[in-house]
Amino acid sequence: MSNPLLYVAGLPKFDEVKPEHISPAIDSLIAEGRALVEQLATSTEVPTWENFALKLEDHSEKLGRAWSQVGHMNAVVNSPELREAYNENLAKLTDYGSDISQDERLYAKFKAIQSGGDFAKLTPTQQTIINHEVRDFKLGGAELPANEKARFKAVSEELSKLGAKFEENILDNTNDFKYIVENVADLAGLPEDAIEAAAESAKADGKEGYQFSLHFPSYMPVLQYADNRALRETLYRAYATRASELSKPEWDNTALISDILKLKQEEARMLGFKNYAELSLATKMADTPKQVTDFLDTLAKRAKPYAEKDMRELLAYAKKLGINDLQAWDVAYVSEKLREEKYAFSDQEVKQYFPESKVLAGLFKVVETIFGVQVRKAEAPLWHADAAFYAISDAQNKPIAYFYLDLYARNNKRGGAWMDECITRRKKANGIELPVAYLTCNFSAPVGGKPALFTHDEVITMFHEFGHGLHHMLTQVDDYSVSGIKGVEWDAVELPSQFMENFCWEWEVLRHMTAHVETGAQLPRELFDKMVAAKNFQAGMQTVRQIEFSLFDMRLHGEFDPNGKQTALDLIEQVRDEVAVVRPPKWNRFPNSFSHIFAGGYAAGYYSYKWAEVLSADAYSLFEEMGTLSVEAGSRFKNEVLAKGGSRPAMESFVAFRGREPSLDALLRHNGMTT
Ligand SMILES: [Zn+2]
Repeated sequence: MSNPLLYVAGLPKFDEVKPEHISPAIDSLIAEGRALVEQLATSTEVPTWENFALKLEDHSEKLGRAWSQVGHMNAVVNSPELREAYNENLAKLTDYGSDISQDERLYAKFKAIQSGGDFAKLTPTQQTIINHEVRDFKLGGAELPANEKARFKAVSEELSKLGAKFEENILDNTNDFKYIVENVADLAGLPEDAIEAAAESAKADGKEGYQFSLHFPSYMPVLQYADNRALRETLYRAYATRASELSKPEWDNTALISDILKLKQEEARMLGFKNYAELSLATKMADTPKQVTDFLDTLAKRAKPYAEKDMRELLAYAKKLGINDLQAWDVAYVSEKLREEKYAFSDQEVKQYFPESKVLAGLFKVVETIFGVQVRKAEAPLWHADAAFYAISDAQNKPIAYFYLDLYARNNKRGGAWMDECITRRKKANGIELPVAYLTCNFSAPVGGKPALFTHDEVITMFHEFGHGLHHMLTQVDDYSVSGIKGVEWDAVELPSQFMENFCWEWEVLRHMTAHVETGAQLPRELFDKMVAAKNFQAGMQTVRQIEFSLFDMRLHGEFDPNGKQTALDLIEQVRDEVAVVRPPKWNRFPNSFSHIFAGGYAAGYYSYKWAEVLSADAYSLFEEMGTLSVEAGSRFKNEVLAKGGSRPAMESFVAFRGREPSLDALLRHNGMTT
């Protein structure tokens, strides 16, 4: 037992794990898993929680624990050896996972437990796990007659191919487009770094002048800042017609859209659903497509007057700039000018008030106060000198969870910020296994003897990821598969994370997290007020835009007939008639590059962005009612939402916490959309 990845008696041995440990550990765990499955599948015993489901849970945990360390190190201390071992073993695990999920002998045993006389004697959590297993086997096609199974498999393989092709077409079109501006005088208004980047891009291709592309860092500054209206129009036109018949035929996604929709409908109907929207919602918090479209319609009705007000303000300001016929390629430009005039402050100015130690202390203080816990530094083997380890204890000073914190960007670390599970809480024969989380960010490291300074956005990111972490760490669930964030519906996962963000907009909380790096002064109230006003700038317009995308997605996968006469483009025009305030030109081909829903797994799920915002704002409104740092509200949130994880439906948890179903009011109020 010298392979550190197989060590389960304590915290991971990050100081010992090497790339050469990965394949032997994963091979032996997969072999063990396959042997276990064979033994369970061929056993003649009547299947029970103990002799069947629990054994699979035990093995999932062992495998999950080893792989979590590999995945984490691959993300934060990457090397060619690590990457190779990671990819090789990821492929093996994908195979193993799909074999298990297709094994009908296992499915039969889960069903036998579900319909057996002892099912009622299982704990509600164990019942949920069995129910999820049976549901997932069904959605994987396990109930289909033999002759339909092959077709079902072919459809899902075809769908993943078409999705990949959809994405490739956008990427190829995006990569192909290059536009040269010869004279720097035609780039007035653009920030210096955008001009420099364009000069470098031209030079790299052996050209003179300034080269722009449709990649966001090149495209967006032009739309936002370039005074040259013709340049904005040229780039907008290329961007808005990507992967369409108005671009090159080989990249046209129009036929793919239709094929993907037809196959998704076929898949849904084989499984007994009326349409794909119903299939998508089978595993989500929202119950029916109607519930989602009603939600979006109601939100649209309430947001639209504010969107129209935003639009009137924008049109008036455009006239001041000499633009009397505002076009789609003027919107970002005029908005930016208006924003600058209304709320002039810089991120750099704000950043001086948020040194790392103040921010962390402030975050921990919020968590300690409302959830009745303590956060303290602790010791553990680490993968890098920048990382740190913390313990969370209860009011009696007994440890209940741990987390690793790795804050700074560096070479060989994946970008972005995220929370991941290291160890998941569960009850074992010898006691409770305590949960451990990884919290990873990519903030600027300290330089020149000064502490690390965070922008307000970074502070928000920190609170957001910590919210995911709390969901994982404050769980009280005893069984692996629905403990912490496991088994939580996809459209409810962002509730705790977005909930935590609210504290970053609370003056009484935020001001104690600030101390100017040079003077030690608190953030001035006046600056904070500007930050809040800027947050809500054009909130109405942004809300109806998100609703437009969400409604289009939901109707496209619900009521839309992919074999009918109406096209996806007709449908989005119809949705715009109802909700949009900014009308793009007729030649805009947005659906052709909407990869979230055609390639990214968000089909009939795009609404979840707004859905989760409503949940988190409404959850937070209890703290507004009872007191920002209310211990009572905190303990309700902890006990009814965080503690329960995936062990019961998210709607039940929400209602238990809030005393009623979610309401839109708080979100609208937080976005300044109330009279
Ligand atoms: Zn998140």
